[in-house]
Amino acid sequence: MTQRTPYLDEIVTALAQPGCAFCRLLDDIADRLIDAILFESVNDVKVREELNAARGLCRRHAPLLVRTGSALGTATMMQGVLKVLLRQLDSGEAASGSRLRGLLGGAGGSRTLAATLSPQTPCPVCAQEATFGGHYADTLLRQARPGSALLAAYEASDGLCLPHFRDVLARAGAAPTPLVAAQRAIWSRLNDELEEFLRKSDYRFQKEPFGAERDSWQRALSAISGQLPGHLTE
Ligand SMILES: [Zn+2]
Ligand SMILES: [Zn+2]
Repeated sequence: MTQRTPYLDEIVTALAQPGCAFCRLLDDIADRLIDAILFESVNDVKVREELNAARGLCRRHAPLLVRTGSALGTATMMQGVLKVLLRQLDSGEAASGSRLRGLLGGAGGSRTLAATLSPQTPCPVCAQEATFGGHYADTLLRQARPGSALLAAYEASDGLCLPHFRDVLARAGAAPTPLVAAQRAIWSRLNDELEEFLRKSDYRFQKEPFGAERDSWQRALSAISGQLPGHLTE
């Protein structure tokens, strides 16, 4: 039996798809986590405590709770968060004996209130993404050696988006030269496509039909900011 490197096959498969492979893999992980929370963990005390401490999901991940069959679970979980927020407001009231004066009165009162209403722990989906993003980055750094199938797949891909490429570099000991060279070639090709898109957009060349560079502006947006949500790229 051959020893499989964890995450390697997943990364190679994702690199064969359009866009940033890490965005694709992590979107899948976020999706599966949301399903697990909604359909298995709505009444799990630990999950609910995490969600309450995080003051709900971040703005990027909250829309994932809007899906088929999610209304009851989302209502239950959001009510849980709201109850915590109300308790935070009321604890000021209880402490001072007058409405909100305890928290709001005195110097820095509203800052204290803002702090108690702020996430006390990261968004659980962001936390999961960070964990798996680290595993993917470490695998890429270890395995993308010259001559490897992984490096070949990377070279043929759309590369990582800028935020994920930065994450990989930040975890590398020495500069991962083959990856940097591959990413440079990918950005350079994209730059050429944008050049062509802009040229054909010029009124003097408008008779020339667009080719593959037609959607280069959207791909550039995703390459620089991270994969756009699906409804914007379809
Ligand atoms: Zn990405
Ligand atoms: Zn999040």
